[in-house]
Amino acid sequence: MELPPIREHPEEPGGSRVPDEAPHSAWHALDAAEAARRLDTDRGGLSSEEAAERLARYGGNALPAAPERTLADVIVAQFANPLIYLLLIAGSVALVLNELADAVFIFIVLVINAAVGTVQEWRAQANLSALRSVIQVASRVRRDGRVRRMDAAALVPGDVVLIDAGDRVPADIRLLSSADLSADEASLTGESVPVAKTAEARLYEATLLAERRTMLFAGSTVQRGRAEGLVVATGGATELGRIAKALHGPAVVPPLTRRLQRFSNVIGAIAIAIVAGLILQQLSVGAPFRDTFFIAIALAVSIIPEGVPVAVTVALSIATARMARRNVIVRHLPAVEGLGACTVVATDKTGTLTVNRLTASRLWLPRLGTVEVGGGGYDVSSVFHWKGAPLPSHDAKDVVALARAGATVNDAERDPDDGVDGGSGDTLDLALLVLAEKAGLEIAALRAAAPRHAEIPFSAERRFAATVNAGEDGCRLQMKGAPEVIVPLCEEAGRAEAYRAAEELAAAGYRVIAIAGRTLRAAPGEPGWRGMEPELRELTLIGLVGFIDPLRPEAAQAVAHCLRAGVKVKMITGDHAATALSIARELGIARDRDDVVTGHDILRLADRPGELKALLAGASVFARVEPSQKVDIVNALKAAGEIVAMTGDGVNDAPALRRADLGVAMGRGGTDVARDAADLVLTDDNFASIVAGIEEGRAAYANIRKVVYLMISTGAAEVVMFMAAIFTGLPIPLTAVQLLWLNVVTNGGQDVALAFERREPGLLNRPPRPPREPIFDRLMIGESAVSGIYMGLVSYGVFAWALSMGWSEFEARNVLLFLMVAFENAHVFNCRSETRSTFRIPFSHNWPVVIAAIGAQAVHISAAFIPGLSDVLDVAPIAVDTWLMLVPAALSLILIMEIAKAVWRRLETAPSSVPG
Ligand code: ADP
Ligand code: MG
Repeated sequence: MELPPIREHPEEPGGSRVPDEAPHSAWHALDAAEAARRLDTDRGGLSSEEAAERLARYGGNALPAAPERTLADVIVAQFANPLIYLLLIAGSVALVLNELADAVFIFIVLVINAAVGTVQEWRAQANLSALRSVIQVASRVRRDGRVRRMDAAALVPGDVVLIDAGDRVPADIRLLSSADLSADEASLTGESVPVAKTAEARLYEATLLAERRTMLFAGSTVQRGRAEGLVVATGGATELGRIAKALHGPAVVPPLTRRLQRFSNVIGAIAIAIVAGLILQQLSVGAPFRDTFFIAIALAVSIIPEGVPVAVTVALSIATARMARRNVIVRHLPAVEGLGACTVVATDKTGTLTVNRLTASRLWLPRLGTVEVGGGGYDVSSVFHWKGAPLPSHDAKDVVALARAGATVNDAERDPDDGVDGGSGDTLDLALLVLAEKAGLEIAALRAAAPRHAEIPFSAERRFAATVNAGEDGCRLQMKGAPEVIVPLCEEAGRAEAYRAAEELAAAGYRVIAIAGRTLRAAPGEPGWRGMEPELRELTLIGLVGFIDPLRPEAAQAVAHCLRAGVKVKMITGDHAATALSIARELGIARDRDDVVTGHDILRLADRPGELKALLAGASVFARVEPSQKVDIVNALKAAGEIVAMTGDGVNDAPALRRADLGVAMGRGGTDVARDAADLVLTDDNFASIVAGIEEGRAAYANIRKVVYLMISTGAAEVVMFMAAIFTGLPIPLTAVQLLWLNVVTNGGQDVALAFERREPGLLNRPPRPPREPIFDRLMIGESAVSGIYMGLVSYGVFAWALSMGWSEFEARNVLLFLMVAFENAHVFNCRSETRSTFRIPFSHNWPVVIAAIGAQAVHISAAFIPGLSDVLDVAPIAVDTWLMLVPAALSLILIMEIAKAVWRRLETAPSSVPG
């Protein structure tokens, strides 16, 4: 077995002279004890009172906030929009032609458009930045002599912090002790290779930042190992604080937004073409250029779905708020869309499908065989059972030896009065401490009696941890880890039995570790000590511990939801294949051993990429997988055309999280490194939350479609109406100003209101949409065409009829405008669902739509009564009998679309092929 190098004794800089006095920033050159003395603290940390006082003195441990987009930026951005250009041109031309009223009106429209866009974008942005601040870094700190977990923002100089692999370093820290420590300092130094760190090195004061091995710096991340250190600088005083500005990247534009932006541009081009044709036609029949020009602009304005990109941003940001309520924090906006299209979820086992509350519940000891561990009580004879009876006291020493070793090669911290779930550290380590308490051991005394001299911390690649501790009868080495790693290092005799016992435990669903140890001849530092690695041999197996990690209660149902929604579920774990399979079976993810691929299988096929891909794409459980192999799994799934959501919690999961379409990190259990690499963070670490996210992602996409549907169909209606009028030789049906008004009154609020629509039921009953599916699919084209043509032709009909009845053009346009406003108000209710009857959707699922529709009517009706405005708009109040004609005409659109939806539903459910 190959072990990564372990650094225990740092080389000293040859003949260096370390200065006696160092200025305050040269902490790296100070001896750890001296650094502590200057900060008026010691290894035991500060008291809460002292910390509070320092917090008041030095301020919180936070960097100056990133400059957000300002309101001015958002306003300026509104003007980068073809629609606004058109209006600007039209307004200026009106000014030149001395059409003052028109010019003022056009500029008002322009301002309203920009204002609506600004408000919406600004709110969406506020929403997003509020979410971003939810993700905090927690630190383990010694305060009042106890280890506490707290928000890193409360750290002060002089605090003693505990750091593990995967942590983001919360402040600048002088190391007090370290084991196998290395940190990624790319954000500070640009150096992408992790740098080894150690508490022991002696450095010159002039040592460069990148070589200060006795320090950890805020903003870097710990790649490997463990450490304890002294906070020497916080917040803006850290090295990171000095360069903080460079760290803020530009915001990402969601691909969907980009796609719809392009789509808007295409529609815009079509609009221009139509309008150009119209101008030519009008000029050829001798219409005055002035009127034609304004009409053309107004028509272009109504066709261009300028609100779509804004509505997309709004829909996505609403979705992020809704997801946050369901424990999914979106770090990158595009992830919302990705979730909606996700086809595979590759998930961790421990902590995501299971609760990650381990209980050591079955032991195996070489001399005794199986020993069951009971629940309550902390008394050896009542807790441990052997062959169905309480464990005889003369046999308890075996259990105690196992428990003692388990509590020694262990980094967790807990007080006996913490209760079964209390304490801090790795859950497996905590479970071993509980086991030790049950065996009647006193942890604090145990640790005091056996100080640690050397260690190899646990890592997911190594799958073991080892320590060397002093003791009464000399130095002892103990080791705990996966049985396949530990047992081969034990003496020959008894190995076969141990393997069999481990296999049995795993097959029964237990997570298994083996614990072994031996007495050393030479202690670290003594002559004859050659480091730890050579000593990892000829161990005595002390025993096996089987842990139960209960399934999360919601997990099985969430898996079922996924499968029904056409989303495949794959389990990835570092655990034993048999353990993994037994849990996967319970969840309905796998059936038999054929569904399981192990890390070994992946290695074995490394040189046959074709076979490997097929194997990976087909399996549903990946066991004894190393973090680095997760990338292979993601790649294989992506190559098979899947949209992959991948969960991860460790440092080594970061590359896979980045590679996946959706990297999902854990808010509680995961490391800061994983969270930084992820697109989504689950605040409850729960698999079921991914499913909730998928549902909300699909809902957001559906809402975006609704907005597009409304915009396109109403634009089409206006074009159809104009074309019909022109080709039948009627006058222009609406004036330019009226068209602009119609656009402002209806589209100003309705389109965005649709983005608030509550998710429709059954989103998880259909397969994911094909990733490349265009928004403008058959359903969308069909419904937009039916509704657009219907609205256009009926409006045209009313206009033509009014003229034929001898109404004046003014009267006919007035009625037509009322009808169009009513049509668009009615239509927004059709758009609330593409397939479901609008009568099945309660108003309470989207009050903004109701308010927008009523508001549009109210504004338009009042405009007819306001003297100046009614003149510019050429509108006047209409009589009751006209209303009696308009309302049914407008509502008939709902009837038509109800029929269209019913037909569509029928076509959809009709069996497309005869089942065999
Ligand atoms: P998972 O994917 O389920 O989180 P891990 O990578 O955490 O699996 O663990 C893999 C294996 O390493 C476990 O099956 C166990 O045998 C061993 N192991 C896990 N945690 C520890 C630990 N703290 N100390 C020693 N061995 C451990
Ligand atoms: Mg794990």
